[in-house]
Amino acid sequence: MKVLTINSGSSSVKYQFIDTDTKQSLCKGLIERIGISGTNLTHKRHDGIKTKASDNITDHESTIEQILKILVNPKYGVISDLKEIDAVGHRLVHAGEKFKHSVLIDEEVREELYECIEYAPLHNPANIKGIEASLDKLPGTPNVGVFDTTFHVNMPDYAYMYGIPYNYYKNHSIRRYGFHGTSHYYVSHRAAEILGEDIKSLKIITCHLGNGSSIAAVKGSVSVDTSMGFTPLEGLLMGTRCGDIDPGVIFTIAGKENFTIDQANNFFNKQCGVQGISGLTNDMREIEAEAENGNYRALLALKVFSYRLKKYIAAYIGVMNGVDVIVFTGGIGENSDVVRNMTLGNMDALGIKLDVKKNKTTRSSETTISAGDSPVKVMVIPANEELVIAMETSRIVMGKE
Ligand code: ADP
Repeated sequence: MKVLTINSGSSSVKYQFIDTDTKQSLCKGLIERIGISGTNLTHKRHDGIKTKASDNITDHESTIEQILKILVNPKYGVISDLKEIDAVGHRLVHAGEKFKHSVLIDEEVREELYECIEYAPLHNPANIKGIEASLDKLPGTPNVGVFDTTFHVNMPDYAYMYGIPYNYYKNHSIRRYGFHGTSHYYVSHRAAEILGEDIKSLKIITCHLGNGSSIAAVKGSVSVDTSMGFTPLEGLLMGTRCGDIDPGVIFTIAGKENFTIDQANNFFNKQCGVQGISGLTNDMREIEAEAENGNYRALLALKVFSYRLKKYIAAYIGVMNGVDVIVFTGGIGENSDVVRNMTLGNMDALGIKLDVKKNKTTRSSETTISAGDSPVKVMVIPANEELVIAMETSRIVMGKE
């Protein structure tokens, strides 16, 4: 089956066209700055042929139209007719408690998706715009929603419950959900596959470190805990999100700045994290370079980032009563030997020993970077959320359990 995957954000849309029989990506691309002047499109075919274009795309409808145009473009495309798209798989951030699994999007589901907007007001509306545009431009083609929250649905109640009156959970579904599910699912299964072990017998900690970062404890193939919560704001320090914080800090800063609730939400999501501490940027490459040059605040941001990750790893070892494998993925996890070293250094008491040379040289490739005598294996596995979305889409469309 040939599946178009759509990851629709508020001002950017990522796409990939995947043959689920061979698991091969036929082409992929990104449209950025939607609704902002000077939209950029970058597109790459599996054989390396690439193109870039600039345009003024104002909305998601026109964005999907552009993607479909390039798929059938005689020079850069991979199909000659849009009928060759068997299905479209959409990344959806938050399902609340409504959807526990991926779904075929029909009228009823569409309406229910609108009801989920309140759970992730920063993400869900953009996801839904991608669905609406695709339903409009490809009538008759099945569309499937694959949720970031699904992999974490079997977390035990004591891991997802907040210390708030129970009726807020019962009546308003306020609990921890977790995100980046497709990524944690993919790298945990891939790690087991590479090691030639049954995932059901493994305890795995997966660290997805990008602009948004989260960590998951995967025991016997089930995510038993993860660092993001009701929203993607909880947990690790991120590019611009504060992660774990004393809620008292929110009241105090909101009071000092006279913030409305929306302004406070925006502040803790977009002006904090690595960028807030360093006062420089959310880009970890620049942070590392500045820290190397002796910039105190850049180094501090790097230390806070790695220290918090280290604490979560130790906590999850406690939660699972051990760990067999730790996996790093995402832009930072795959590329930053500095973060991996700062995080896992001095953890030999817990059975974690890095191979310093392998760690230093590994960039975005499937590699084991632990020392030969390390009881815990440490691996780098590049993220491939699109493949999970495409495989899930094919499974749902074919009506398989
Ligand atoms: P997103 O969450 O937007 O998908 P990515 O997974 O692409 O993010 O990760 C982006 C982050 O990865 C940025 O902070 C970027 O600086 C960082 N990154 C990419 N390459 C490197 C590198 N070589 N060293 C350190 N950080 C890197």
